[in-house]
Amino acid sequence: MPETRPTPRHTRCLIIGSGPAGYTAAVYAARALLEPVLIQGIQPGGQLTITTEVENWPGIIETQGPDLMVQMEAHAKAVGTDVIADHVLKLDLSSRPFVAECDSGDVWHADAVILATGAQARWLGLESEEKYKGFGVSACATCDGFFYRGKEVLVIGGGNTAVEEALYLANLASKVTLVHRRDELRAEKILQQRLFNNPKIEPLWDHVVDEILGTPADGVTGARLKHAKTGETREIEASGVFIAIGHSPASELVKDQIETHMGGYVVTNGFSTQTSVPGVFAAGDVTDHIYRQAVTSAGMGCMAALEAEKFLAEQADAAAQAAE
Ligand code: FAD
Ligand code: NAP
Repeated sequence: MPETRPTPRHTRCLIIGSGPAGYTAAVYAARALLEPVLIQGIQPGGQLTITTEVENWPGIIETQGPDLMVQMEAHAKAVGTDVIADHVLKLDLSSRPFVAECDSGDVWHADAVILATGAQARWLGLESEEKYKGFGVSACATCDGFFYRGKEVLVIGGGNTAVEEALYLANLASKVTLVHRRDELRAEKILQQRLFNNPKIEPLWDHVVDEILGTPADGVTGARLKHAKTGETREIEASGVFIAIGHSPASELVKDQIETHMGGYVVTNGFSTQTSVPGVFAAGDVTDHIYRQAVTSAGMGCMAALEAEKFLAEQADAAAQAAE
């Protein structure tokens, strides 16, 4: 039997990713009558689905991350976006239309692509970290915190995520030690204030994780920490270690096809979302190494859709002129 290949489907505007950038691009592209197709990826709703309170989305004093993303999805669908539960495995930008091959076997041809693939949690890269992932090592307190009720845990990192994870875990754990490699946090001041006021959280400055300790029967039992300046080591007991050291841009799909910098962030042209390939636009955390916020991602999603609309209109004009 000859192999049957799926018939490629065509869209004028393919949006890859379902975080704030992707859904906002979808709202604008749909309202521009581009009939966009949005592929959600393996994390429908993006990074905000793994957090709890969101307190800086303008217009809503406080909401839950997953709820906000459900609303964004509903908004994108309501204005006419075709939202598809699938994951893009391969993206070929070498010819037009661009070609996206999905996990389901579906193939999409697209005249314009909006890359909104966001970012993923970064790990320390220790062998012991890998060994105990899922057995006491986690990168998501809201997902796994429940397992550490009444137990002692470590949170590694000094940014907003680390502080929020520590605050969240303090509601469940008996003690949270925040291990940071410097003696100053990067997190917003308001979060720092909450952290320092919480009696269950103890910061441990100038330390890095040397090794995560555990046994096959118990999983994680603690960590060996190293002083960042003196190199002195010490062991600390804990049942869980939460790694919160930032995120890396999810730009593997366009690796070697589009210009990237600073460890994979997609380069855009000045104050625009245009990438080094005409017709491909990048929005949100996949291109932003500075702000990395839901609202800035959404803003860039808006820009990407408006720029895609302009690009497609220019292409159509050029084609009409060529046909005359
Ligand atoms: P993401 O939200 O990262 O979404 C990326 C999307 O791309 C996902 O849907 C994923 O499935 C999809 N994708 C990836 N690869 C593929 C592929 N190959 N095919 C198809 N789809 C793909 N920001 C705030 O403003 N306020 C906060 O309170 C806040 N809290 C946070 C708490 C935590 C724990 C974290 C981790 C981040 C927080 N942030 C917060 C930052 C905020 O979540 C991000 O800036 C924002 O989600 C980035 O949006 P994005 O659309 O660029 O990408
Ligand atoms: P981040 O701001 O990049 O902070 C990463 C932290 O981990 C830094 O403190 C860094 O130390 C530390 N770190 C990095 N690599 C390390 C390593 N190998 N070993 C030990 N420590 C290491 O990342 P983030 O906290 O995940 O935040 C990402 C973005 O999302 C930010 O823009 C943030 O503002 C946003 N966010 C916002 C909110 C909110 O608004 N409430 C909540 C969460 C996240 P140094 O400080 O020494 O570099």
